[in-house]
Amino acid sequence: MRVAITRSLAHSSTNRRAAQTSPQRWNVEMVQRNFAMASASLWSTSRLLSLVGLVVAASISLLTTVANSQDEKSIDSRAKKFIETHVAKMKPLDKIAGIAWWDANTSGKDEDFQRKEDAQNKIDAVLSDPVAFRELKFVKESGKISDPLVARQIDVIFLSYLEKQVDPLLLREMVAKANAIEKAFNVYRAEVDSKKLSENDVRKILKESKSSDERRKAWEGSKGVGSVVEKDLIALAKLRNQSAAQLGFQNYHQLMLHLNEQEQPQIMKLFDELDELTREPFRKAKAEIDERLAANYGIKIEVLRPWHYHDPFFQESPAVFGTDLDAIYLKADILKLCRQFYLEIGLPIDDVLERSDLFEKPGKSPHAFCTDIDREGDVRVLGNIVPSERWMDTMLHELGHSVYSSKNIPQSVPYVLRGASHILTTEGIAMMFGRMAKNGVWQEQMGIAPQDPAERKNLSDAGAKVLRNQLLIFSRWCQVMLRFEKGLYDNPDQDLNKLWWDLVEKYQLLHRPEGRNAPDYASKIHIVGAPVYYHNYMMGELFASQVHHTIAREVYGGKDPRTVAYVKAPKVGDYLKAKVFVPGQTLNWNALTKFATGEDLNPRAFAKDFRAE
Ligand SMILES: [Zn+2]
Repeated sequence: MRVAITRSLAHSSTNRRAAQTSPQRWNVEMVQRNFAMASASLWSTSRLLSLVGLVVAASISLLTTVANSQDEKSIDSRAKKFIETHVAKMKPLDKIAGIAWWDANTSGKDEDFQRKEDAQNKIDAVLSDPVAFRELKFVKESGKISDPLVARQIDVIFLSYLEKQVDPLLLREMVAKANAIEKAFNVYRAEVDSKKLSENDVRKILKESKSSDERRKAWEGSKGVGSVVEKDLIALAKLRNQSAAQLGFQNYHQLMLHLNEQEQPQIMKLFDELDELTREPFRKAKAEIDERLAANYGIKIEVLRPWHYHDPFFQESPAVFGTDLDAIYLKADILKLCRQFYLEIGLPIDDVLERSDLFEKPGKSPHAFCTDIDREGDVRVLGNIVPSERWMDTMLHELGHSVYSSKNIPQSVPYVLRGASHILTTEGIAMMFGRMAKNGVWQEQMGIAPQDPAERKNLSDAGAKVLRNQLLIFSRWCQVMLRFEKGLYDNPDQDLNKLWWDLVEKYQLLHRPEGRNAPDYASKIHIVGAPVYYHNYMMGELFASQVHHTIAREVYGGKDPRTVAYVKAPKVGDYLKAKVFVPGQTLNWNALTKFATGEDLNPRAFAKDFRAE
């Protein structure tokens, strides 16, 4: 999962527009409803008039209609003019920034990073222009844009400007604070018995050591950064709340959700339902893991503490089942498998692979991401493929992003809306494909499963179990992150140490170390660098399951979703194009989910996929 986070963060920083959308179909519907209501009331008013007054009424209503339509005409033309000017400025900058980002990550050269920063600064200058924002706000808030597609573009553009309307001094203070914290993270080394440990050292100990004492010390050492940055982090949260207040929001959590077309009650309700459905399966999966862990360390289950898991936050599944998923990929040609798989579902990716940079080389970013350079089909993937299950998953994932891009979103969709509906929908599609790397049915249909039936079944069962444990553990961890960040911005002065451990105990079922009162939350860098963002990964997983179940139902005529692996099924590509890709951002994430699956986004398909057997 850590891989997914890294690569998704990289992805999101190029495609920030995907994360900056606004409630649009809602607005379209509201505009239409207002329209209908206006004419209905006009009609009933005229009905009340006597026959004598009819002529007068008719001329009044005619006048009103003329005035309204002139008004709308001018608002419509102002909206269109704004979009035209905006696109004329942004289109070349987007492309320059996209290429600079690509070059910087493939070369690692300072001058490329500088080019990327310069382009980003120019983009920020466009989006923070207060005069342009006034016009945009007027046009949007008039509620009088008659063309839904124009209204949607204005909504999307509005959110990208809104974020940048914070007082520049405050913005600078926030950036400085965040940079100071990130620097502190970079230089911090856990100190254990007067030896300095890197993050990799800590992780190695947590993966391998059998000594509870050594594990505890390494874990405590890794949490030490929390005390170093605690004060700055709380100060940053307060500055962020100030910026939210300037923009008219109660706090930063609500602002950030709003900028992503999400409202707090809606998200909390979704996560409550997810909690309900995953609690028992998670408890079972964790009990099984705890049993193995305790046996491995030769201790009792009751004395397991957070340092007995294999990563500092228990966000990943500990490797306790001794299964080697890499075995079948050691000799496989990952690139060839991807090329063949995507071609046979009617979503060929040869052009993407030609433009991509896929193998390790000096200076290059060690992560993976996909980027749409120009929204005209120049889509590229950066990877560092080595033969392993992780890279099979990662390449299916990144190429999943690549097919959900301007490659398959038609040029007739306006430039502003020619991207994925939301970061969660593109992550969802990428995750849906990535999961296939562990899927026995997929391996079999792709012709790479082991010949021996017993071996094949073992591997298939192991893959399903690893995936299930990963996703259950990740879902409980996301609960902690979402709820902690909500609490942090609701009230940064509360006892945050207690809030953190209360949540960890409740959702991750970890045992709080006796007497511990330390700012352990502050050792999670995402709170600084990617605030109020984590929940989108989880929602992406829900979207992945929901779309997968829809494919099983609609494309495969009601087949058991566990046996559906898309191989050689061009109908899957047809469905994805028509129902997920083609609308681009004309639909917001929830409207798109409904359009593609017939239901609002919900955790039921996810829970079915990952219930404990
Ligand atoms: Zn991704």
